[in-house]
Amino acid sequence: MAPAMTEWRGGEAERAFLGTLSTAMPWEVIHEFSNYVRESGTEGEQQAVDAITRRLTEWGIPHTVHHPRCFISLPRGATVTVTLTDGAARTLTGTTPAFAVPTGDAGITGQAVHLEAAHATNVNTIFTSGLGNALEGRDVVGKIAVLNGLPMPARIADLTHAGVAAAIFTSPGTNVHEGICTPIWGAPDLETAGAAPTLSVAEINKPDGAWLKEQIAGGMVRAVTVHTNLDTRWREIPVTVAEIRGATAPEEFVLVHGHLDAWGEGIGDNATGDATLLELARALHEHRHNLARSVRVAWWSGHSHGRYAGSTWYADTFGLDLIEHCIAQVNCDSPGCRWATEYRDVSWTPELGAFTQAVIRDVTGLPAQGERPPRAGDYSFSNLGISGTLMLSSTMPQAVADEHGYYAVGGCGGNIAWHTVDDTLEIADRDNLERDIKVYGGVVWRLANAPVLPFDLAAAGKDIKESLNHYQQALGDRFDLGEVGAAADAFIAAASAFMAKASASDPAAGKETNTHLLRASRELTGLNFAQRGWFRQEPALDVPALPDLAAAIRAFTESPEESHGAGVARTSLLRARNRAVWALREAGRELGTT
Ligand SMILES: [Zn+2]
Repeated sequence: MAPAMTEWRGGEAERAFLGTLSTAMPWEVIHEFSNYVRESGTEGEQQAVDAITRRLTEWGIPHTVHHPRCFISLPRGATVTVTLTDGAARTLTGTTPAFAVPTGDAGITGQAVHLEAAHATNVNTIFTSGLGNALEGRDVVGKIAVLNGLPMPARIADLTHAGVAAAIFTSPGTNVHEGICTPIWGAPDLETAGAAPTLSVAEINKPDGAWLKEQIAGGMVRAVTVHTNLDTRWREIPVTVAEIRGATAPEEFVLVHGHLDAWGEGIGDNATGDATLLELARALHEHRHNLARSVRVAWWSGHSHGRYAGSTWYADTFGLDLIEHCIAQVNCDSPGCRWATEYRDVSWTPELGAFTQAVIRDVTGLPAQGERPPRAGDYSFSNLGISGTLMLSSTMPQAVADEHGYYAVGGCGGNIAWHTVDDTLEIADRDNLERDIKVYGGVVWRLANAPVLPFDLAAAGKDIKESLNHYQQALGDRFDLGEVGAAADAFIAAASAFMAKASASDPAAGKETNTHLLRASRELTGLNFAQRGWFRQEPALDVPALPDLAAAIRAFTESPEESHGAGVARTSLLRARNRAVWALREAGRELGTT
């Protein structure tokens, strides 16, 4: 368990800090943002940057606006023209996701084929779920696939692999949802560039989609033509970072961050978050004499149109500083939305689970449920081994979503205005915003002031052990993960002993304790969240626990025994096993085991 509020040095200071957090300025900022369409690297977004920096300057808060050149894709519309067997034609207007391939003026014409695919059922699978068996036994080569759901990267990859000529997604609602379909996280590099989408994709709304599917089912469609247009190129985007220097250990810092760019007005996603970050900067600056570590507050561009390009550029450019000195990262996306009164589906790396629950309980009186962060949001720091908490914060109760007939979306507190033209001022809720600002304030304040970092590393070890048990079940007696399990057990024992000693020790001894905690947590986070290793980026696809092992186990169990495939997979499995044992032992050694 994380220490209770009263055990923290500066509890009085924390109460004073939380007491100054208010929605007065944020509410003004949210209204101002409703005037700006904030596409990455555009004039509208620049106005939002000015709104932030004008205030930072006024308050005397040091800040920098970086202007990196990043690979950005701005959708510029899509149509689907349906030619019926009687010669009549109807053109449906829709959208296309960022990084889909523009069709050119001629468009892509083909035979339409309807695939049975479902919309993702919850916020955690929405970003990563593929098509399952929707393609099984279907002849789709050279045809235009028509299917339900959102054009997320795993689905685009499945369709591309199947050889379709183009895809038409039908939205689960009466509005189309904007989005992005590349699996490449941030700017492409030599390792990832080849994964860029090669498919043209349109998305139409539910009524139009229902009509199209009806025509296909009735054998009434002779052909469909998809037209899409996008402006995809390297362009400058603004990355705004303010720093409030700590009074005790200024070289150590907490990174609290969110995206400034948006789809349309983007009030719930993410003007509310931008305003929250600004309020945190203001109040932290006001209380900086009581702030032990530094806090960096970052507003990214390139989130929506560059697959987290801004935060990834920051992770690349300041990677060494981050890996050495960043205590934890805290993501702020879509707080303070209408009807969002519960903390469920919250994201945290396992060592910050108990901590985050304690803060939410202390600040709001509410319980919180969370889990392993999906490979989404601006969690661009996992390959640096950095612990993280929060992504989305509050969300509406399932009963409220059901009452409104809402389907799962990836933000706006569960409001289906998410990524549509309806994400306007009515999506923000002032009371919920005030509560969420205090949650973010509490999390950041405690991370910045905790004498001993509130990392429950035994919990992180147990989380890994649990995954290993699942994987061993999948492997049966074909491969033994016992050595990894033993390393995990040894680590859990070391972490428990270390934490018991650390919490009883003099806070003045904290510095060295924290260095060990941080190094051990880097090892565990790197092992549990990154397959590609330090300083790289995982794709925007499902990244399972212990991804290196998971990938090898999956390939191994899917290959017939004694086959070439099994031999190849077994080689990867041996290497992944070694890496896992080594990381756990290294982490254990940091905490005093031999
Ligand atoms: Zn967002």
